[in-house]
Amino acid sequence: MCGIVGILDAGGVSIQLYYAMYALQHRGQESAGISTFDGTTLHKFKGQGLVADVFSTATLADLKGTSGIGHVRYPTTGFNLPENIQPLNFQFKDHSFSLAHNGNLVNTHQLRSEYEQSGQIFTTTTDTEVIARILIDEISASGSVEDAVHLCMRRLQGSYSVVIMIDGVLYAFRDPLGIKPFCIGTIEQGYMVASESVAVDALNGKFLRDIRPGELVRINAGGIRCTQIAVSSARAHCIFEYIYFSRADSVIDGVLVYDVRRTIGGKLYDEDPVAADAISPVPDSGTAYAIGYSRRSGIPYAESLMKNRYMGRTFIMPSQKQRERAVRIKLNPIPAHLAGKSVVLVDDSIVRGTTSKRIIEMMREAGAREVHVRIGSPQIKAPCYLGVDMPTRQELIASDKIEEEVRRNITATTLHHVSLDALIEAIGCGRDDLCTGCLTGCYPLPIEGEQGRTPQIDFVPGTYQANLESFET
Ligand code: AMP
Repeated sequence: MCGIVGILDAGGVSIQLYYAMYALQHRGQESAGISTFDGTTLHKFKGQGLVADVFSTATLADLKGTSGIGHVRYPTTGFNLPENIQPLNFQFKDHSFSLAHNGNLVNTHQLRSEYEQSGQIFTTTTDTEVIARILIDEISASGSVEDAVHLCMRRLQGSYSVVIMIDGVLYAFRDPLGIKPFCIGTIEQGYMVASESVAVDALNGKFLRDIRPGELVRINAGGIRCTQIAVSSARAHCIFEYIYFSRADSVIDGVLVYDVRRTIGGKLYDEDPVAADAISPVPDSGTAYAIGYSRRSGIPYAESLMKNRYMGRTFIMPSQKQRERAVRIKLNPIPAHLAGKSVVLVDDSIVRGTTSKRIIEMMREAGAREVHVRIGSPQIKAPCYLGVDMPTRQELIASDKIEEEVRRNITATTLHHVSLDALIEAIGCGRDDLCTGCLTGCYPLPIEGEQGRTPQIDFVPGTYQANLESFET
């Protein structure tokens, strides 16, 4: 998972990119980068760490220009190497080219080896460089960005929301299945594209709409132009964006994530009601779910765990032992809210099981009599190949366990996961328009060794014309 943003603003973009990336920080904490273009020169700065650690007032002042793109990275394909930090920047035929990508390709290996066999070299270990290579080769040959994006949509398998900047002109496109979120907004003196609408809010901008699956958006000083390049028979919006990944205040593909989570909370009560003294979220990921559960059941909402706001996501800790210790520093129980009580503990998902197990232990140590666990997603059964860091089947606690076995493992009094039907109903779009790979083991596109569908993708002759225009500004 990563967060991407592209901004064109007559008043300069570096500070705006910085704030937008700040709003998308939850999508990636490993590294951050910005590239801007000032009419003649490409400026770039990137580094490892949080947005606030990577950039200073001085570095932002050096990032001159009225268009730019930014990226926050959460590693999926590729290792944690400095050269993998995005945006990736290239020069070709006197043009400057920067690219930032959110998603994950499943045919990177095949595409890379095709290039390598023809003698080409890569400077990173990312799938993103493969996208850049296809685009640059095609733009060099045909002079048309539309042609190049068309070719990408034919060749790339996987999830990709991409923003590129060529000599200061921004282009944004989203894979034909619309797996990762991507939206457009207007700001005071220009336009922006971003992974989530909260980035538009952060700049006090106006959310226009989602970028459509298979669509290419071009933004230059003259305005926005949208071209539908490809249309798929079905969409495959990542269901985990609604469950966990996106911020609750984001509107994704027309739906406010907070509402989805609160509705699921109510459904968790309907599906498996329990009489308890209090409903408590695992902060912050369980909060909207717990509010929904409390409203529906009438059981009071009472926080019993306090979160240390200054700690990053424990999931990112490399070793199991570090992750276990980190949970204790991150969440502290309030014994006065727990002693002798029966509590419903609500969270978004159980992945490895480390977090829930440790939290339940802490709640019991603090005096809780019963801990009934309610989870806003069905059991996570299979890895994600399309951009969420869901580990291998061996690491997923539920990959080979029924709910009762997981309950015993995490030592909950009772355990219930919301049903897939209820989750889909809460999101409000058709089952076939969601990627449920991590929950069902069935993916929306072919993946080697896994069960997958083959979507029918049509290229749109009406709005797409080869060599429609050159990319020159
Ligand atoms: P665990 O079961 O210990 O692996 O932790 C699960 C918790 O980590 C969930 O309740 C989420 O809040 C969070 N989480 C789930 N998936 C991810 C992910 N891919 N990256 C980071 N955190 C995650």
